[in-house]
Amino acid sequence: MKSPLRSHKKIPLKKKKKKSVCEWCHNNYLKEHNSQKYCSDDCKEYARMEATNNRVRKYRKKYDKNYSDWIGCGSLGEHRSSNDDVEMDLIRKEFSRLRLRR
Ligand SMILES: [Zn+2]
Repeated sequence: MKSPLRSHKKIPLKKKKKKSVCEWCHNNYLKEHNSQKYCSDDCKEYARMEATNNRVRKYRKKYDKNYSDWIGCGSLGEHRSSNDDVEMDLIRKEFSRLRLRR
């Protein structure tokens, strides 16, 4: 005869691990948790490094490039050069830097 206690005993459910593909190395692996994207800590670290590089590159493309367009950071000095040819070259350089003349 079955004991009533035994029939109500809870059996722990075996968690099914989902198969997935690593976003870094494209190998198949079993997920430990639902938000897992990479098969190992190494893949996770490499992906993080690349994401950082991309973020910095995007930032520099957006902001750092435009520093050269700012007025006041050109090659013209505070005082006029005594040599007129040198001064004219600097002025032409400044014009082209600011894209005032082609
Ligand atoms: Zn991987």
